[in-house]
Amino acid sequence: MGSTAPKRPAAEQIYLDHASTAPLRPEALVAMIAVYGGTWGNASSVHATGRRARALVERARGQVARLLAADPAGVVFTSGGTEANNLAVFGAAGAAPARRHIVVSAIEHHSVLEACLALGRTGYAVTPVPPDGDGRVDPDRVAGALRHDTALAALMLANNEVGTIQPVAAVGRACRAAGIPLLVDAVAAAGRLPLAAGALGAAYLTISAHKLGGPQGVGALYVAPGRGLAPLFHGGAQERRWRPGTENVAAIVGFGVAAELAALELPATAAHLAALAALLTEAVLAADCGALVTGPLDPAARVPGLVSFAFPGMDGDALLVYLDLHGVAAASGAACTSGSVLPSHVLAAMGLPPAACRAALRLTLGRESAPADALRAAEAVVAAARQQAGLGRRPLAPTPQSARSR
Ligand code: PMP
Repeated sequence: MGSTAPKRPAAEQIYLDHASTAPLRPEALVAMIAVYGGTWGNASSVHATGRRARALVERARGQVARLLAADPAGVVFTSGGTEANNLAVFGAAGAAPARRHIVVSAIEHHSVLEACLALGRTGYAVTPVPPDGDGRVDPDRVAGALRHDTALAALMLANNEVGTIQPVAAVGRACRAAGIPLLVDAVAAAGRLPLAAGALGAAYLTISAHKLGGPQGVGALYVAPGRGLAPLFHGGAQERRWRPGTENVAAIVGFGVAAELAALELPATAAHLAALAALLTEAVLAADCGALVTGPLDPAARVPGLVSFAFPGMDGDALLVYLDLHGVAAASGAACTSGSVLPSHVLAAMGLPPAACRAALRLTLGRESAPADALRAAEAVVAAARQQAGLGRRPLAPTPQSARSR
């Protein structure tokens, strides 16, 4: 296929950006509408209306806890993954004020990394641990960075830009042996990999509803038994005083339903996503269009359904625009950095040259994606890369009509 790939309206887009956000599951929507339409009370009120809302929140807490194979008492609802990560970083530091050192992998999501850097600006020593060329952090390097005054170590379960699964259980063992709490950001892994907070050795673990079929704007921080947490907010007794403020009952209910379904369907979903990712990856690589896989080539070392490429020398934003105009929704690295001119901190930490860091694509399949979607997306990726390569060979040719004006 050349640059004549058919254009498709947004409504018909093949949506391959599930790591940015996934569609709300109908089951979650139905449960949320029931809250808005009937059981809408304040979960802290003592009257019957409030108690009904409280029961719904506690049911959802149990559903989220089951996804994490964890104690519901440790589940704190937040406004999403970003808040959960900030609460964990500042909360763990605040709970151990005598400890003034943080260990953090260099490929964490900004909500972990920048929270740690903010602590650094207040006098904490921060040790970033770089990954290898596949985006994998060596557990021995994390263990070697731990100090007697380390307040927190942070390593995500799966990277959200290149999909590399991290050796969290090994790091968890090292942290446990050293008496240091470990924060595991499981936002990109939830619904795709098994999450057992205890087996991972997580003192703190975070997830976000909108990545697994729940609504946007709600997430959870899991705090393991006996772990301290200083709140970020003050002024209420909700969520064990760890996260005061009236609970968003409808969103929490939708989150619970999505978490329960994600746990039930995990084996089938993971197999489906891995098969589609293999189809897409192989189709792109077979076309020899200049694409390099970023992250590990071994599918078992990647979070199911996340495909990432670099196109050295090409323009990542132009690739994305081409895909968008031809009916494929993808991302360049993390959603939050799409549109920014900064190269991905993850690819840079992996040692990719700047020319490759600036032309990265991430395609994340979801449970509703079909093999035909993976194949059509692969065709569009190949066409986008060929179009750029063609333009590159004819720098003096008249400006071709843009895809938009055709
Ligand atoms: N951590 C990771 C790994 C993520 O991918 C994201 C979302 N891009 C977040 C945290 C933040 O989650 P939220 O969008 O719910 O704030």
